[in-house]
Amino acid sequence: MISVSRMLCDIVSPGDHLRYERKGPPRPIVVWNCTRQCNLSCVHCYATAVHERVPGEMDTAEAKNFITDVAEFGAPVLLFSGGEPIARKDLFELADFAKGKGLRLAMSTNGTLIDREKAREISRIGFAEVGISLDGIGANNDRFRGKEGAFDAALKGIRNCVAEGIRVSMRLTITRFNYQEIPEIFKVMEDEQVQRICLYHLAYSGRGSTIQKEDITHEQTRAVIDTICRHTVDINSLGPCRKDSGLAEDQRRQQFRHQDFRSGQHGERSS
Ligand code: SF4
Repeated sequence: MISVSRMLCDIVSPGDHLRYERKGPPRPIVVWNCTRQCNLSCVHCYATAVHERVPGEMDTAEAKNFITDVAEFGAPVLLFSGGEPIARKDLFELADFAKGKGLRLAMSTNGTLIDREKAREISRIGFAEVGISLDGIGANNDRFRGKEGAFDAALKGIRNCVAEGIRVSMRLTITRFNYQEIPEIFKVMEDEQVQRICLYHLAYSGRGSTIQKEDITHEQTRAVIDTICRHTVDINSLGPCRKDSGLAEDQRRQQFRHQDFRSGQHGERSS
């Protein structure tokens, strides 16, 4: 994962110290695919998620043992991923438990199940960040994600999290179907006051292995990188595009100083 904001604008974001300021031996950031269950059916899903809970997944007691092992090993971060982590009925119990073990918590989610009550729980527990995926605008996202209304539902999830003061990152897996919508995705980010965006290459695994031909070409990749760099510099130097924020330009610049753009291969992953 490359921090474009750091590279181009020298902006230091929460969690950067885990990547860039190594003190002592390296410690792993653990991405835990805590379930394969998911309410969506994305064509690129590298976990090959399914709608029902899969037999053999860790139950609550086993999951707590696993979390204890992760904490005792010294991992600084536990990122709940999946499948859809919120599909696990014990997610918040496990997150509370992990927090009590001193782990910094993050989550990759499709966001469609985050109503206001769940956002409150996420905030109460103290997740450092919630990554919510959008793979395009409107119907384009929905076609990719296999569910009509998924875009609107994810947007509501984003809004519920932002309203609860949760640091949200937007995630997008780049394909030939959505690479031209990246400027609009940046606009959504600005309009919704999302602080970070992570853009991922298509991972050729799971269902993603069946759509390799939908990946972008090298030339398109170069154009996408240019777009990302341009937006990164623009936003961080000129302030937010929100004209209705009611803030003076100086204040808006200050508020958005920490917007954070990243590009990379799936690590924290797009859900
Ligand atoms: S990519 Fe994420 S949201 Fe889509 S089916 Fe897989 S787990 Fe669910």
